[in-house]
Amino acid sequence: MRGRNETPVRTVVVPFRPPYPLLRALLDVRSGTQRLLADWRSRPEECRFEATKRVYPSLRASYPHLASSWVVTMANEASASLRSWDRWLRRMKRLDPPRWARLHDQIPRRRAVKGSLHRALYRLRGRVLDITLHRDRHVQIELGFVRNPLFERYGTASNWTFGLAVTDRALIFQFRVPQDQPIVAESAGVDLNMPSADLATSDGRTSSLDLRPITAIQGAMARKRAAISRHISKDLRHQRAVLRRYRRRERNRVRPLLHAVGNELLRQVGTRNVVFEDLSSTTEECQKITRGGDPDARRRLSAWTHGEFQRIVRYKSTTAVVRVNARGTSSECPNCGGPLAHPSWRRATCGHCQGDWHRDRAAALVILGRGHHLLRGAAPPPSARNELLEAARWRPDDERSPGPAGEPMKGDDAKASGRG
Ligand SMILES: [Zn+2]
Repeated sequence: MRGRNETPVRTVVVPFRPPYPLLRALLDVRSGTQRLLADWRSRPEECRFEATKRVYPSLRASYPHLASSWVVTMANEASASLRSWDRWLRRMKRLDPPRWARLHDQIPRRRAVKGSLHRALYRLRGRVLDITLHRDRHVQIELGFVRNPLFERYGTASNWTFGLAVTDRALIFQFRVPQDQPIVAESAGVDLNMPSADLATSDGRTSSLDLRPITAIQGAMARKRAAISRHISKDLRHQRAVLRRYRRRERNRVRPLLHAVGNELLRQVGTRNVVFEDLSSTTEECQKITRGGDPDARRRLSAWTHGEFQRIVRYKSTTAVVRVNARGTSSECPNCGGPLAHPSWRRATCGHCQGDWHRDRAAALVILGRGHHLLRGAAPPPSARNELLEAARWRPDDERSPGPAGEPMKGDDAKASGRG
């Protein structure tokens, strides 16, 4: 379950070499966790709570030099490892059944030297972080060396309540920063698609952002990946490693563009709530459809890009950001709610009210409607509604234009939202 409306977590990673006693404890966490993985894997029917209770005494006996909360930490780590292992297996089963058949009854190997410490094991006194190894053995870390400005900012904002994970090379702080994104009167619906992000606001404005630079990179990288897998088709291990590297490279190139588009989007949104489609539940469905070759699914940005973009906007926004059910947003008439037919790529017509729409601009309207309703916003005045419907209408030149040509915000005061 992805976190949605609970307090968001801000992570700050501080490079750090743990002193030997702490490193020793982390290595113990690793070996203890590995032991639990083997034990729990062999009894899949046992519930985690019972399992923890059963192994607790023997773990305590094995690690008498560590406080009891370290044993709890091991159990938590084992639990998390098994969860991600199971998730990985499920994915393998779908993508690479032979590999799954080879690996599914293996015990996951715990390699990382890492512990997400139990809350009782650490506390911050002024600028000194105190980690308990045992009742009377502590490690104290003077945090004056931390230069990351976010550390101070999130620390203050969270009133220094944080989760702490320690690895052999870093301290990972997870600050719970209460969300300061108030719900305001007006909203903006955003439809994200291949060539553009289309925007419609409850006060009757529309605009469109160009996403082609992003999709150009994705297209080029997809071709490159296809070439690679043709080229190194014999050594699958090598192929996987190279593909992974290229995927990382693609993300590193796309991310700054997403930030730029996100900034521009928020400038246009101004002081309105942001409404996105929630694609987390449909991603799997989309993948299935994509393989079948449905053009509608292929028009979507990749799941990663989409999610990352929403995450970036959510992070930067000063107003509420919500997600609405994505089902049917491009097949619902923005005027009467009737079903839409798609006579061509971007065109959508309603047999019920005879509406003739641009599908993405119409989808933005539907998304806005769902989100605005969810946020209990007042119904848009008829004038705004008419303006939106007018803007979503199909225009003869839509068929020819390859995408948005940096269209300016339609509406009287585009400058008021921060541009120009
Ligand atoms: Zn209609």
